Amino acid sequence: MAKIYYDKDCDLKYLNGKKVAVLGYGSQGHAHSQNLRDSGVDVIVAEYPGSAAWKKAEQAGFKVFTADEAAKQADIIVMTLPDTIQAKIYENSIKNNLKKGDVLLFAHGFNIRYNQIIAPDFVDVVMIAPKGPGHLVRSEYLEGRGVPNLVAVAQDASGNAKNIALAYAKGIGGSRAGVIETTFKEETETDLFGEQAVLCGGVTELMKAGFDTLVEAGYQPEIAYFECIHEMKLIVDLIYEGGMEWMFYSVSDTAEYGGYTVGPKIITEESRKAMKEVLKRIQTGEFASEWLLETQVNQPKFKSLRTLSKEALNEKIGNELRKMMPWLKKRTTETGGK
Ligand code: NDP
Ligand code: MG
Repeated sequence: MAKIYYDKDCDLKYLNGKKVAVLGYGSQGHAHSQNLRDSGVDVIVAEYPGSAAWKKAEQAGFKVFTADEAAKQADIIVMTLPDTIQAKIYENSIKNNLKKGDVLLFAHGFNIRYNQIIAPDFVDVVMIAPKGPGHLVRSEYLEGRGVPNLVAVAQDASGNAKNIALAYAKGIGGSRAGVIETTFKEETETDLFGEQAVLCGGVTELMKAGFDTLVEAGYQPEIAYFECIHEMKLIVDLIYEGGMEWMFYSVSDTAEYGGYTVGPKIITEESRKAMKEVLKRIQTGEFASEWLLETQVNQPKFKSLRTLSKEALNEKIGNELRKMMPWLKKRTTETGGK
């Protein structure tokens, strides 16, 4: 079982006299900076000139700088930047502004695990990864609660790296819920595996396969959409609230029996073998290498796949059906995305 730290194991004194620079005022960055400030920590924010988030951070009362300037001033540099640009910003703006005793703090391990950022040996390299989106990290903090965090130490130059990371977790409210110990390797590899095999890859492909099967058999696509895609939310919400037991208790006995007996016919030994191969590609760095190269050539494959996904019949049907559900806020990339 994992080692878990709570408020009593975390001491904010490890942040005393330290200036924290939160780089990137996005989903995680806005929540971390506001929670830390409310916990009495000295925080500045970094954005790029002209970004909308720069103004937002200023309106929230923060002093905002470029990454370069913020890294110069800070003792703890928080990498809440998009994972794909962290290495470039590190190279251009951070590397030459690091001094002995500084801390590089990540919210996800990719760039350290796959050696895209190689920190000098005189700094601490730690991770505090909230297990939830930024808006929840903020709203739970305001409720006096927190979202669980993961903590990891990749490099302990100061001898206090873990204590500093745990103090940070306390500052953002994470230790109110609990901070689970992990490593950069475990966090990165399980995160990639989860999103590829299950959350973003497995589940979407399963829904599409179910939808296509019904449509090809002559059923109306609107009905197929409701049954195989739209209603996924009801099931996932139940699992989120009370696990599979609660979900199976809440659906009909027919659905429960059908689920137990047919599920393993769909996710077969072959699917499990494919999952092992996916994991191997993550462990060997093959996936990371593919993705980093794809990004270097401006993502032609990624952009084509995105277009194909958007143009599929299931998406067209879904867009039409959601017009019947005015309580759903219209969310598409055309209406402004996030
Ligand atoms: P976002 O994309 O929401 O935020 C990144 C921010 O960085 C944006 O405001 C972006 O501005 C800004 N930015 C871009 N370029 C620069 C620059 N040169 N200098 C300063 N700021 C810049 O990212 P997330 O918060 O989602 O992710 C941050 C980290 O947190 C990642 O490592 C991610 O893996 C991790 N994480 C994310 C979680 C989540 O639920 N979102 C959960 C746990 C961890 P603009 O938008 O204008 O480009
Ligand atoms: Mg994740």
